Amino acid sequence: MTPDHHSQNDILFARAQHSTPGGVNSPVRAFRSVGGTPRFITRAEGPYFWDADGKRYIDYIGSWGPAIVGHAHPQVVKAVQDAAARGLSFGAPTEGEIEIAEELCRLVPSLEQVRLVSSGTEATMSALRLARGATGRDKIVKFEGCYHGHADSLLVKAGSGLLTFGNPTSAGVPEDFVKHTLVLDYNNVPQLEDAFASMGDSIACVIVEAVAGNMNLIRATPEFLQRMRELCTEYGAVLIFDEVMSGFRVGLGGAQELYGIVPDLTALGKVIGGGLPVAAFGGRADLMEKMAPVGPVYQAGTLSGNPVAVAAGMTTLKLVQEPGFYDRLAAQTNKLADGLTAAAQEAGIPFCADAVGGMFGMYFSSHVPASYGQMMAGDKARFNSFFHGMLEEGVYFAPAMFEAGFVSAAHDDAVIAETVEAARRVFARLV
Ligand SMILES: *Cc1c(COP(=O)(O)O)cnc(C)c1O
Repeated sequence: MTPDHHSQNDILFARAQHSTPGGVNSPVRAFRSVGGTPRFITRAEGPYFWDADGKRYIDYIGSWGPAIVGHAHPQVVKAVQDAAARGLSFGAPTEGEIEIAEELCRLVPSLEQVRLVSSGTEATMSALRLARGATGRDKIVKFEGCYHGHADSLLVKAGSGLLTFGNPTSAGVPEDFVKHTLVLDYNNVPQLEDAFASMGDSIACVIVEAVAGNMNLIRATPEFLQRMRELCTEYGAVLIFDEVMSGFRVGLGGAQELYGIVPDLTALGKVIGGGLPVAAFGGRADLMEKMAPVGPVYQAGTLSGNPVAVAAGMTTLKLVQEPGFYDRLAAQTNKLADGLTAAAQEAGIPFCADAVGGMFGMYFSSHVPASYGQMMAGDKARFNSFFHGMLEEGVYFAPAMFEAGFVSAAHDDAVIAETVEAARRVFARLV
């Protein structure tokens, strides 16, 4: 089918605009960054999904991470069906919530206790409140390009001067709400040291994506995280790793295991719900015991620990513990990154790729970026042409240059090879 004409996707997108702002329930889905019509998905299985025209795509988003065992994995579907048949939600505790909490604490050693919530946004928002409640301090530090959900105090970009407080990135966020948020450069150790030297005693917490996946894929340097850990300890600030994306994605123990750094609190989401709404925050028991009902920091949720969602999450967590799961996942992801890089090279296109566990980044530049600024300097026009070329070929990458990609256990050698072949054709056509 030629691009977007007489497509059911066009018809649905036009219809969706009337009842929903921009036709989508989360902005990136609208394809604003790449242009064109978003695909409306009708079903998914393994590494594939199908759009409203019946066209099949190899999917490298996996619902932005959760579909790590492949779409509609039979064991996950069965667990959800069984749980649903027993009732959808009770608003009272269940044994399943204990099981998943125990499993998370066992798999991620820094977690002594966890609290379940329904989205990553809630997890980070609650972790911040806890850090502030526990320290009695207001200021928080975040890094440019890291995304931590859409809580008011996190929708902020760097202020005009070094070490000045941030400006809201969304209408509707009062400046007063972000005046306690300091936004620093990712991987900039001296700047972090300056921030602590000048106001360390009033910093409640530092929140960071240790492997950043919301400014394409960017790895933290080990020194950056190590120094962050030391400074937080020295000044009594809470170190929060936002592993909503990297948790159970870059490896079984998350980015903290990869770097060998123990945060005080961790936010989880995406994979731990296996495609249904489960997220969590947790960490040191002495901090977590500051949460209601035992402590003074309030937090709650009607659907928190929902039994159907927990069944999907728990089954997914079982599947990723099969022997060799992450080794295979990383091997497939590396094959993809290497294959794409070789294909671009053949066509003489400046391109590189990086991969950590089951996450990858593609950069239309000659080196892997280390900061938000470097990432944004990539060739967006070329990325967009590549994106649409691949879409036509039946390969669905994230519809924006500043997003990471995700491989699942269902992406076998044939799927990766088909992707690389398609990329070879698309790179050859790029100018
Ligand atoms: C996706 C994401 C969030 C937000 O999670 P939602 O479930 O979309 O609210 C927070 N932090 C990181 C690192 C994420 O990738």
